[in-house]
Amino acid sequence: MQPIRGTKDILPNDIEIWQQIYKIAYDEFSKYNYREIRTPILENTNLFERCIGNFTDIVNKEMYTFLDQGSRSITLRPEGTSSVARAILSNKVYVNNKMNRLWYLGPMFRYERPQKGRQRQFHQLGIECLGSERAISDAEVIKIAHNILTELKCVEQCSLEINSIGNIEERETYKEKLTEYLKKYESELDEDSKKRLERNPLRILDSKSNQVQKVLTEAPLLKNYLGKNSVEHFNELREHLNYLNIEYSINERLVRGLDYYNYTAFEIKTNEKHQQNTVCGGGRYDYLTKQIGGPKIPAVGWAIGIERLISITKDSIKKKNITEIIYIAVDNSIANYNIWHIIEILTTYQLKFELDLSNGNVSKKIKKASQMGINICIIIEKNTLETESLKIKWLRTNKQQIIKLSNLQEYIKYIKNFI
Ligand code: ATP
Ligand code: MG
Repeated sequence: MQPIRGTKDILPNDIEIWQQIYKIAYDEFSKYNYREIRTPILENTNLFERCIGNFTDIVNKEMYTFLDQGSRSITLRPEGTSSVARAILSNKVYVNNKMNRLWYLGPMFRYERPQKGRQRQFHQLGIECLGSERAISDAEVIKIAHNILTELKCVEQCSLEINSIGNIEERETYKEKLTEYLKKYESELDEDSKKRLERNPLRILDSKSNQVQKVLTEAPLLKNYLGKNSVEHFNELREHLNYLNIEYSINERLVRGLDYYNYTAFEIKTNEKHQQNTVCGGGRYDYLTKQIGGPKIPAVGWAIGIERLISITKDSIKKKNITEIIYIAVDNSIANYNIWHIIEILTTYQLKFELDLSNGNVSKKIKKASQMGINICIIIEKNTLETESLKIKWLRTNKQQIIKLSNLQEYIKYIKNFI
């Protein structure tokens, strides 16, 4: 039996990497007082239709949607922001807290063609800063992403692209101009872009087709349709990033695949050549809560795709060292409750251990520990036990010591410094 196409098991060796990313991100979020939120994986389908927009790729063709036993249309969340906005409203969190700084980590589901960097169940780490329309909050969230990538030692391989996509009215005007222009070259567009021309022409801007990009070289630019507030907001963000020495480039064709953004849109890309090279996508969404029936809560946030992040950090994250583990090899012919005493001491000093449960003899067990790359092995055998002692073998140097059970605690305390 295989897992469902586009899904993956994450095995213990990989989980170590996940946990280190989690720890680095958690420390960073805590410093800036972002607090975790967990929303359900299941939501009403119309939440995503209303938030993300009916003409987007996600809602149009990527959602896992089904009818439940009560004939309600349910969707496995394709992204986190819609759910967080919904949760803020349903729980009226905004009433007592003007600012809500939140983060989440969890699985997302999109029915896409599985390939490198693209799964049907993938994971996003995301933050949302709700309650401020000031550009400094855009800079804050970008700085947090930047700090996480720096801690993970992969910031050098990444570049930040920013753009302003203006407000809804400005985008509408621009949409008309762009459509007018593209209509003239319709025959030169690829099938995807032709479809987008009617429903979502802005998305043509970030088409990966060279032919389409060629058509776009003379196209009107969104920046020429931005109003005073949009321009000011964008300039302010740039000044903050300049001050923070966070490198960025302006990508005038950067639009995001979700309808709810305004003003700032940004992506962090890796310098890998393939198309799935965006690790982080985000932007400002001042009208989202209003769109789903709440008050206006200006907000900005981003989401990092964990699988894509791991693919660029794998080398810089150190796997935990197996040599830290203390192996316990016991002669099975002796019923031995001293094991619990030893375990108690090891756990007191927060040392990791593994008790060999196999039926083999002690020398076989030691050999196994050695093969695993373990350094310290505690051996309990009949002859040493008769003198209330046990043997400690240092597998790397083959040195061994006999230790009285009553001295074990002192000994462990001492060797903890060398592990
Ligand atoms: P793309 O253009 O690569 O499809 P997107 O714009 O659809 O990305 P977002 O909705 O902004 O992506 O999601 C944020 C991040 O989540 C992406 O930058 C990426 O790292 C990750 N991501 C999105 N879709 C997938 C997927 N199907 N598999 C793995 N990671 C994904
Ligand atoms: Mg996508």
